[in-house]
Amino acid sequence: MRLILMGPPGAGKGTQARFVADHFGVPAISTGDIFRANVSQGTPLGIEAKRYMDAGEYVPDEVTNHMVRNRIDEADAAPGFLLDGYPRTLAQVTELDGMIEFTGHRLDAVVVLTVDSEELVQRLLQRAVTDGRADDTEDVIRRRQEVYLEQTAPLIEVYRERGILVEVDGMGEVDDVTARIFAALDEIPQS
Ligand code: AMP
Repeated sequence: MRLILMGPPGAGKGTQARFVADHFGVPAISTGDIFRANVSQGTPLGIEAKRYMDAGEYVPDEVTNHMVRNRIDEADAAPGFLLDGYPRTLAQVTELDGMIEFTGHRLDAVVVLTVDSEELVQRLLQRAVTDGRADDTEDVIRRRQEVYLEQTAPLIEVYRERGILVEVDGMGEVDDVTARIFAALDEIPQS
């Protein structure tokens, strides 16, 4: 199973990614988590990524693509994977297509969580209190929403045209959202 989980910052991707990945027995690959791990270890990748992350901007495609390619090449991702937070730009879509095609597989589905924008900001401000993420200040939250709308929202139409888009209402309780995702994915054929 090869899945993408998409949605604006604060839509609950990270939480749902873990449930969905466990259910299908594939690793959840979160580019944000990999960047944050590199930042906390002070690696060259982390040092480069941090200045973009702190500003709410995207890390350059070449850097991100290279990192994802290496992660997907690891043995645990051979049977499949769930990508959380990648692709986020049209250039990343093309790059991911190449990576998957190379292995002779296909993308099974792209799940998009939809949440209204006021709820998103409230969730992120709450996360700032509980998790203390450096990029959860109000200005950066706002910038991340803008960047999502400009650069990532257009990907929804790309995947819709391919017939693999699954839109799920991300509002409400975590368990209810998980149940909606499973119900929607039950409809699609697994590879
Ligand atoms: P996330 O945890 O998914 O919200 O990601 C946190 C930050 O990591 C983002 O605001 C970006 O700065 C960076 N990032 C994560 N994934 C990507 C990506 N696919 N392309 C570029 N930057 C990314």
